[in-house]
Amino acid sequence: MEAFINHHQYNLIREQVKLISDSYAKSNSHDVTSAIKALAAERVFNQFEELTPLQKDILSPISMLSDSKEAEVFLNSLESVIIPFPQISEAGIKKLFKKVKKLKVPANIKEETLHCSYIGWNDYGASKKYLIVEHHGKLIGVAGEFNRIQDKGVCTICHRISDVGLFMNQKKASSDGTFIKRGNYICQDSEWCNDHLTDRSKLTEFIEWLY
Ligand SMILES: [Zn+2]
Repeated sequence: MEAFINHHQYNLIREQVKLISDSYAKSNSHDVTSAIKALAAERVFNQFEELTPLQKDILSPISMLSDSKEAEVFLNSLESVIIPFPQISEAGIKKLFKKVKKLKVPANIKEETLHCSYIGWNDYGASKKYLIVEHHGKLIGVAGEFNRIQDKGVCTICHRISDVGLFMNQKKASSDGTFIKRGNYICQDSEWCNDHLTDRSKLTEFIEWLY
């Protein structure tokens, strides 16, 4: 079976499954739980433009879950059909950040198959954050200055309240070769951010604005 679920879509499925499990845990009435299940299934199916009958079969157990154990089995059954992030070698990563000298690449990024919508890591010593994103069908690297802030804030990418920092990068102005500085608040912890991202358009908008 070919993978067909993007990471952010899986996050939404997981959230909806949790709503169903919580409803059973709270011993809501049958009607309430049925309504939550129907709504959850609708949200899950609506995020796909098109599904084959086989893909529908894989997702449809969401309407029949009756306890947290079944919920877990259902989520586990989806793991093999999540589209992994494109694999990239250390040399490939360095190519994406040609201008950065002494780039430190975390080991898991170059060695593991990653399930995420984007790759992000921090180099606090240099006050930098690095993002790798698939943009218009190819991987791009965006390096920026990154400084943590004391208070919690809303992340521009996942739109959740979390420990954020100000990410700033330089974008080339259209014609005269000058640079403009742009930035916004994003999660310090990119893994956490990835696990809470359910709408990829926010990530795309952010990258388009920066790149
Ligand atoms: Zn975030």
